[in-house]
Amino acid sequence: MAQFLEIKAANPDCMLFYRMGDFYELFFEDAVAAAQALGIVLTKRGKHLGEDIPMCGVPIHRADEYLQRLIKQGFRVAVCEQLEDPAEARKRGAKAVVRRDVVRLVTPGTLTEDSLLDAKSRNYLTAVFDGPKAGRGQADSLALASIDISTGEFEVGEVPAADFPGEIVRLSPSEVIAGDRVLADAQVRQWVGIAGAAATPVAGASFDSLAGERLLKAQLGVADLAAFGEFSRAELAAIGALLKYVELTQIGRRPALRPPRKTGPGNRLVIDAPSRASLELLRSLGGQRHGSLLAAIDRTVTGPGARELAARLAGPLRDPQAIAARLDAVGFLRENETLREDLRGLMRTAPDIARAVSRLALQRGEPRDLAAVRDGLTTAGTCAGLLRTRAGGIGLPDALAAIVLRLTGCAGQLQALLARALVDAPAQPRRDGGFVRAGHRPDLDEARSLRDDSRKVMAALEARYLEETGIKSLKVRHNNILGYYIEVPAGAARPLMSEPLSASFRHRQTMAGAVRFTTPELADTESRIVAAAERTLSLEQEVFAELSAAIAAEEQALGQLAAALAELDCEGGLAELAAEQTYVRPVVDDSATFEIRGGRHPVVEQALQAAKAGAFIGNDCVLAAARPDTTAGFDEMTEARIWLVTGPNMAGKSTFLRQNALIALLAQMGAFVPATSAHIGIVDRLFSRVGAADDLARGRSTFMVEMVETAAILNQATARSLVILDEIGRGTATFDGLSIAWAVVEYLHEISQCRALFATHYHELTALAGRLAQVANVTMDVREWREDIVFLHKVKPGAADRSYGIQVARLAGLPKSVTARAAEVLVLLEKSEGKAPDGEALLGDLPLFAARPKSHVPAASGPSPAQEALAAINPDELTPKAALEALYRLKDLEGKDRG
Ligand code: ADP
Repeated sequence: MAQFLEIKAANPDCMLFYRMGDFYELFFEDAVAAAQALGIVLTKRGKHLGEDIPMCGVPIHRADEYLQRLIKQGFRVAVCEQLEDPAEARKRGAKAVVRRDVVRLVTPGTLTEDSLLDAKSRNYLTAVFDGPKAGRGQADSLALASIDISTGEFEVGEVPAADFPGEIVRLSPSEVIAGDRVLADAQVRQWVGIAGAAATPVAGASFDSLAGERLLKAQLGVADLAAFGEFSRAELAAIGALLKYVELTQIGRRPALRPPRKTGPGNRLVIDAPSRASLELLRSLGGQRHGSLLAAIDRTVTGPGARELAARLAGPLRDPQAIAARLDAVGFLRENETLREDLRGLMRTAPDIARAVSRLALQRGEPRDLAAVRDGLTTAGTCAGLLRTRAGGIGLPDALAAIVLRLTGCAGQLQALLARALVDAPAQPRRDGGFVRAGHRPDLDEARSLRDDSRKVMAALEARYLEETGIKSLKVRHNNILGYYIEVPAGAARPLMSEPLSASFRHRQTMAGAVRFTTPELADTESRIVAAAERTLSLEQEVFAELSAAIAAEEQALGQLAAALAELDCEGGLAELAAEQTYVRPVVDDSATFEIRGGRHPVVEQALQAAKAGAFIGNDCVLAAARPDTTAGFDEMTEARIWLVTGPNMAGKSTFLRQNALIALLAQMGAFVPATSAHIGIVDRLFSRVGAADDLARGRSTFMVEMVETAAILNQATARSLVILDEIGRGTATFDGLSIAWAVVEYLHEISQCRALFATHYHELTALAGRLAQVANVTMDVREWREDIVFLHKVKPGAADRSYGIQVARLAGLPKSVTARAAEVLVLLEKSEGKAPDGEALLGDLPLFAARPKSHVPAASGPSPAQEALAAINPDELTPKAALEALYRLKDLEGKDRG
């Protein structure tokens, strides 16, 4: 217990998994908490200061599963292993304690096991450091450094404090480390929580830029960082804390990291956190992957490919050239269908090389990780070969040529070595051996045959003893305590205990029904077997270490290769999507235009397909058109930068708004888009406020949330931004709301000068189109049919004539008496011409539940003449001519019924 208490004291903030034989045991409050969290039995063991010690345990072979559950529930776990064989300890004396120590701290941001990770998601650990302050209070900017130690991905950048929420949601780390000062900021804590990360406070002193520089150089094995870009002091400080934390949790083991990539608002399309949520990029509003844009566009075939796609979607680009390079690659794979299919077929079975390399570097690898590197190298080589040979006359686009280079950048000897040394499919854990291919090492082959021969010798011994003693039931057996022994039934043991056999057979143990013996020959054979088996195992461990070292030597090249394979899968998946859903290549340039023809909503379109609910109707969106001679209906308003979208509920306004935001985003991540054509002048910031929801958890009403988000848009939108606003000012009184919406449009037009789509119910707003040069009205086309409304989902120039609220309410199934009454109230309101009508008059004139069921309320009277005529018809007796006449008569009667 003394050893336990000492180790526990050194790791007070962790649950201690204390290795004892084949179990990890937990004691004291850890045991109580774990038993509850895992639903396992709480027992006790011994006493401490006179009290029972609570204890529970998890078997080694299920430890991963329990770890995962604990980490998910927010615990941190210190894994304490036995550092020597218990037999070693016994040599020091009967009471000697086996040496143990913590070999690793398991935290959400430092996982490496496949069973603890989602294959399709990155697992970032992010350090947040507040940079210098201009005045007092909040820092102006924050430096964020992130690594995924399970793959070696590493990025760093600085963002203005106002962009922190969007950035932390983009990174979506599992764990954030920060100093107390940063975590004391309620806003920061809140967004860290919304991003889904656990917050771990670390000492402010670990954010040391000099130490960061030193650690980074050591990690990359370089004397100068210049080759990797410029890092600010704040960024180096964040890197410093990050690498220090990795050192702390990995107990000195060094992960395989790639050089850090610089990221920042300068080279990305900035999307704030509410817009990310409202556009349902990686998760739907309900929090699932299903229903998100990511789920709709993901056609990748590997985990790394899916991670790359998610990263591209979360952080679209801003440089037209970089975007064009990606589009070239997607376009090439879109055109070359057989090549695409062959590549995807090959990649489908490709292992996750980056995660395997990372586990090997942290000395947590298994033989199957070695095999993953070997097989990954094979896949990479074959893919590169295919790309080269099928490139055709014009050659590969640059992005793919660069991928080919990285796919083949790893020394050929490594692949040959792994192929020679490893069995085809190593399944056993490392400690059991059996993964080295016969013929790789002569000394290992020799030890193996000795071990196996000795087993044969043992079988021969048994046969000989059987014959010598004449005891048919004699057996040579083995257990962990006695080792090998000879066993005979109790009744047959006597001859072995008397001359002459007793000279060689020595009694060892008497059991209930059997007696056990040994012989000098048996003991000798046994020690030969044990020695050979031990030698086999230790030689295999030696081979494992050699192969790991060979892989470590190629760590950077393998990291590049894994990344290239992920990119190829991502681009192949986007090409597949483009072919399957007939997406087109967008033109993305430095112009100010936003011209989408026949645009569709990628998620709604696929949902309609899945439900076989008809085709999605494509719609144009033409803001600040590049060519004034555009045709297709919107010519007269090509100047407009802001479209006011009116139309009844359910007509498709939100869908139209969102689809244009999503098309911009897809284009800038380098994907083809759901449209017949798209021309997009680079967007620097994308804002989307669609639909309002109370944020009760944060104690803010719908209206407050709406105003906070609108304020953020007005403060941050530039002339390059794209703004999607749905229903501003709905949460307050009509005239307040209208006035706010009015002023917002004016501000966007005059000050922000951005491109914007603004959906509204306030028809009064449509007057703005006449007053502001660059505002135009469009409306969702509907047809009235009798008293009902039919949605055509088509955007056309002009303003909606009315809002059709009552028709939509009727579609929704409101009782007829209510919709009829609403229609009457509406007439009155319209008569009062915008002045608030006298409530008294309404109450007086038109009591809702007056006995008088006026015009539209269906009377509970008998059947109508048309219904009666219909009932009288017997179709079986009618001639074709009579049938036609009956039809005309019925139509006629029905017309009269309606009055
Ligand atoms: P609004 O915002 O005007 O209330 P929505 O955008 O929510 O309307 O659209 C309502 C429904 O109409 C959507 O869920 C979708 O199923 C359908 N819809 C919208 N736009 C289209 C379209 N262009 N083509 C086909 N169906 C559409």
